[in-house]
Amino acid sequence: MSAVKTRNDWESMAQALSIQGQAFINGKYQAAASKQTFDCLSPIDGRLLAKVASCDLADANLAVDNARDVFEAGTWSQLPPVKRKQVLIRFAELMEENADELALLETLDMGKPIRYSKSVDVMAAARAIRWCGEAVDKIYDEIAPTAHNEIGMITREPVGVVAAIVPWNFPMIMASWKLGPALATGNSVILKPSEKSPLTAIRLAQLALDAGMPAGVLNVLPGFGHTVGKALALHMDVDTLVFTGSTKIAKQLMIYAGESNMKRVWLEAGGKSPNIVFNDAPNLQAAAEAAASAIAFNQGEVCTAGSRLLVESGIKDELIALIAKEFEGWQPGNPLDPATTCGAMVDKQQLDNVLGYIQAGKKEGAAVVSGGSQVLADTGGVYVQPTIFSGVTNQMTIAKEEIFGPVLAVIEFEGMEQAIEIANDTIYGLAAGVWTSNLSKAHKTAKALRSGMVWINHYDGGDMTAPFGGYKQSGNGRDKSLHAFDKYTEIKATWIALD
Ligand code: NAD
Ligand code: MN
Repeated sequence: MSAVKTRNDWESMAQALSIQGQAFINGKYQAAASKQTFDCLSPIDGRLLAKVASCDLADANLAVDNARDVFEAGTWSQLPPVKRKQVLIRFAELMEENADELALLETLDMGKPIRYSKSVDVMAAARAIRWCGEAVDKIYDEIAPTAHNEIGMITREPVGVVAAIVPWNFPMIMASWKLGPALATGNSVILKPSEKSPLTAIRLAQLALDAGMPAGVLNVLPGFGHTVGKALALHMDVDTLVFTGSTKIAKQLMIYAGESNMKRVWLEAGGKSPNIVFNDAPNLQAAAEAAASAIAFNQGEVCTAGSRLLVESGIKDELIALIAKEFEGWQPGNPLDPATTCGAMVDKQQLDNVLGYIQAGKKEGAAVVSGGSQVLADTGGVYVQPTIFSGVTNQMTIAKEEIFGPVLAVIEFEGMEQAIEIANDTIYGLAAGVWTSNLSKAHKTAKALRSGMVWINHYDGGDMTAPFGGYKQSGNGRDKSLHAFDKYTEIKATWIALD
């Protein structure tokens, strides 16, 4: 067999796949208590992939009860960290060993190109699990500086039962950024994948069990936000709720927490990230390549998408032309074709959202430089061209709202101060790019930007060592790095009198 699979190879593998659509509770696949299912359709061509369990309150109650029991039993929560490490490393290995299947499920379910679902999604998800496993037996607690006759211990304990609600754009990676630190620190977890992309989460549950994780530690409840998601968010026995998704739902989850048990709520939400290119950018071609991939990669369905390109007037025309040229390499195609760089939108609703924003851009007076249309409609799938708008002002809808599609708004500016002012004039604060050869300008701009991540002379950098998350309405707390562990542990101060 050849090393690189062709589209036909992937298609035959897809035909032969047996896809699991049931919930995973206490170590077993099972139907929703109500027996309800929903259709999981592929955005590639509309084919039915599976009937997926539509969980609700009854399933949430069952999963939380089991998760609590196993937490109290201590078969995971009280293991020495080195033992949890071994299981998590095995879990990561199993993800890598099953990379083809996981990648195919991700591509069929949410439409991203197979070339990335394997090399980016599966690999980054496995790295996250492994990194957290490797870290957890190297973290020490603290002893306070006290008088001779007392001891102050500052220790970290798992919070207990964690509910993780995740989106559809990077289903496995977003899940793993939560599962890694949550499981490493000894919690029990209920994972609620998006109804638009439940398949890999369902599969991961079995791999975790196979890796040696006790039944009940990781449960997966597919279903809708307003049913099972809401039930978890309002549950009186969920200690911590971690979320990645839209700002709108993030705000709702804070309300649910306040209405129930004041569970801790950690939110990774939306973005409208500025990518600022100054006249003195060191390499305009590199800036154009990064700007194109910042909005076309993953069909623009990226929370950190560089969706506002702030370009200084001296290089505006040249940069736009270079990006338009780059977009020729990002034209939509069948995601199962290894040559495809831009796949299908996640579903018809998301396609319509994006087309609606393209209409709004035109109506409010921005100019389409390239793209702007739905394509490949005859496939039965949902595809849209990467699109550049020039002449955008920061007040236009396409500059203010998160589109979550391959639509780039180009905004012209003059000088550093104006760039910073426009960049920060948003409700979001997730990420930003800065392109300049001037060291002090780079630092000054980076410091002035109200965002959780700043990338200088590139876009979308960072690995597991770097925290990920936003300022303002992009959320709170951080995924990745040891900072992520804060979300999954309580701090206990134990003071001991020796006399
Ligand atoms: P979404 O907010 O619609 O849904 C996210 C999850 O919340 C889904 O699992 C959904 O079922 C669930 N949900 C919906 N309503 C709920 C409710 N009332 N109660 C409980 N759960 C509910 O977001 P989406 O469309 O799946 O994902 C796109 C969004 O995610 C974008 O805004 C994007 O910026 C954001 N995102 C952020 C990051 C980040 O790290 N900051 C990463 C990826 C995506
Ligand atoms: Mn899907």
